Amino acid sequence: MLNVIQAKAGIVSCSGEELAEGTVARLATLKVLHELRPSSTVTICLPLFLAGGEGDREFARFHPTITIDGCDLRCAARGTEMYSAKPAASIVVNELLDAAGLPRPEGRRCLNAAGRAAVDLVAERVAQLVDELARGRRSKPVAPATVTAGTGVDPPPGPDRSGRSPAR
Ligand code: SF4
Repeated sequence: MLNVIQAKAGIVSCSGEELAEGTVARLATLKVLHELRPSSTVTICLPLFLAGGEGDREFARFHPTITIDGCDLRCAARGTEMYSAKPAASIVVNELLDAAGLPRPEGRRCLNAAGRAAVDLVAERVAQLVDELARGRRSKPVAPATVTAGTGVDPPPGPDRSGRSPAR
């Protein structure tokens, strides 16, 4: 039962449209979801999450989440912690780029070469974090029902957005 609960990590990307870094966050999320770790991740719609999507909030309470934010306002990380639980890991695009010595991206709708490299870097880092979560090297605060899941308590119901689940 516990393995079911830990099987998927939720990737929460900021929805920043005003910065190229927001575009990087969203594209990196898609890359992880569709290319790098399709079987072990889902994505959570941040606007719906913030607007009161109980299915997404419930999912993030019982599954580890990795947030990706375009800037240090950290909307995804803050929103996730506020409405569900502290993310298992948080990434801020510019911080990761600075640490890697890479230039800032440009182009909100059409990323330049630095932006495309940033997508690759962020996606690879998220994939690494997903693997660490799967190996139990990272964890998140878990709700009481999850703690007892291995002893026969059923996991919470799957995400329910009026019939819609986090994208896979
Ligand atoms: S983290 Fe920054 S870029 Fe992303 S939605 Fe918030 S303000 Fe916009």
